Amino acid sequence: MSAADERALRRAIVDTSLEMERLGINQGTSGNVSARYRDGFLITPSGVPARELGEAAIVWLPLDITDDAELLRVERPSSEWRMHRDILRARTDVHAVVHTHSIAATALAIHGRDIPALHYMVAAAGGKSIRCAPYAVFGSQQLSDHALAALEDRRACLLAHHGVIALGTDLGRAVWLAHEVEVLAKQYLLALQIGAPPVLSDEQMDEVLEKFKTYGRRNTEDR
Ligand code: 13P
Ligand code: ZN
Repeated sequence: MSAADERALRRAIVDTSLEMERLGINQGTSGNVSARYRDGFLITPSGVPARELGEAAIVWLPLDITDDAELLRVERPSSEWRMHRDILRARTDVHAVVHTHSIAATALAIHGRDIPALHYMVAAAGGKSIRCAPYAVFGSQQLSDHALAALEDRRACLLAHHGVIALGTDLGRAVWLAHEVEVLAKQYLLALQIGAPPVLSDEQMDEVLEKFKTYGRRNTEDR
């Protein structure tokens, strides 16, 4: 990868942050974005709203960065750098990670609820439910550990009293999934208005998961 590739990826991260705001799944300084680059990752800086973000402010961190690295003091990456690092380390299939505080999904996360198989699109996150990770304070190693566990065999999860994390083979797919999780959360909240919604059976979800392997122009399996 060349310097031009790095510039393009920095631009794509800024554009992704703006796109999340446009989609209504983030606002202000909420959320963060990362993309794998070389033996590390590029990540949004801490506390900068999308509209004020420039390419130069995007921070590169090595995948083996630890808490005591001087780089963290100089560069000020997103406070959630541990979560992004740990996901990109553990999941070699993942090249982009987005985190949002989108409203409907966060409302469910406040209740600590998983999203069950109430719509076939739940399978877009890779399984028969979208799990909610237990609460831990933002930016902590504990939050990262909880998120990684909730993401097992999945490409998205909720974070209790906090928000959503979504993964993808590229930035576009990660944002697509974060938006899809928000749509599912809205559908869930609306369905709850008239009682406990029925859910699809294990067999019905197996059928969807199988169909998704060959669905559309893009293989949803690698989203
Ligand atoms: P940062 O601005 O540090 O990325 O924090 C936003 C956030 O959502 C923390 O969970
Ligand atoms: Zn957050």
